[in-house]
Amino acid sequence: MKTGVAYFETRNPKHVLTDLKDMVDKNCNFVVHTYSEYDLNFNSLVMRDIVKLSQEMGLEVYINPWGLGRVFGGPEPYSHYVAEHPEECQRTADGRHAPIICMNSEPFRQYMKFWIDSAAETGAEVVFWDEPHFHYTLDVLMGTGKDDEWACACGMCRDIFKERFGREMPKVLDEEVIQFRDDTITDMFIDLTAYTKQKGMKNAVCVLPEENPIVGVSKWELLAEIPHVDIFGTDPYWMIFNKPLDDYVRSSTRRVLDICNEKGKEAQMWVQAFMIFEGREAEVGQAVQIMAEEGCKNIAAWAYNGFAFMNHKCQDHEKVWEILGEAFGEVRGKVG
Ligand SMILES: [Zn+2]
Repeated sequence: MKTGVAYFETRNPKHVLTDLKDMVDKNCNFVVHTYSEYDLNFNSLVMRDIVKLSQEMGLEVYINPWGLGRVFGGPEPYSHYVAEHPEECQRTADGRHAPIICMNSEPFRQYMKFWIDSAAETGAEVVFWDEPHFHYTLDVLMGTGKDDEWACACGMCRDIFKERFGREMPKVLDEEVIQFRDDTITDMFIDLTAYTKQKGMKNAVCVLPEENPIVGVSKWELLAEIPHVDIFGTDPYWMIFNKPLDDYVRSSTRRVLDICNEKGKEAQMWVQAFMIFEGREAEVGQAVQIMAEEGCKNIAAWAYNGFAFMNHKCQDHEKVWEILGEAFGEVRGKVG
């Protein structure tokens, strides 16, 4: 059984070491270190030390392109690449700039390979590809937006679409646009996961919990079946989406396990450990138990210490952290 947490609280090895010991005490055996554009530019050397310290503590290390180009999950780390390369950004079908890089951008693919080179130099064992997505607004996500607010309809995407389908890209999302968008994400991942493998690291992909073509791929299988994807999962954060814990977490876990069993991949499920309301901390432990009951053997939580260090922390972050640690211990067959 693998149990872990995401970590990005500090880059001072003295404090990181204390936190790594705390993770081991809370029954973690892996850590997901974020490696944002900021880390790439300013912390790459110290990140090698942090990865080494993690491994010396017995933790397997995943590394995550947190918010790179805003293509991957994480609204928190701002993207310098987006600011510097507006010409590589996505555009909505109604012609507006979207602050996220187009996944068909060759310069961005090269930038991602530069990131993979640097990630490999840290000594991390697995790249954690989190929540790849197109630009979307909350209105569009909720079905109340305009029909032509989806992305990407930049000049390059429109040219590729026209060549492939023999017609102009329409303003409204139709079956061929959905296919085009699915192909765009999978093509990027085929390229990046193969490069990651060449560098000696495994690939883990996590998708947003809804199979919604507005956001990402229309079917999760499309990413799970990519040959170099080793680990596949999702993050059913029931409390922020206001969903019933048991149904939502259990059905997501079953869907991921079904896909992984069919495709021969390892399943990984993510537990919400941020923005947990006071009085509902026990649900974090229940989520871990549900995932384990369903047969998932790789469970991670976002993030360390109940997110104590940012605005969207759990109201009682210490209690969440204690409960998470106990639940990890129980599913790993320990007492307490
Ligand atoms: Zn585009």
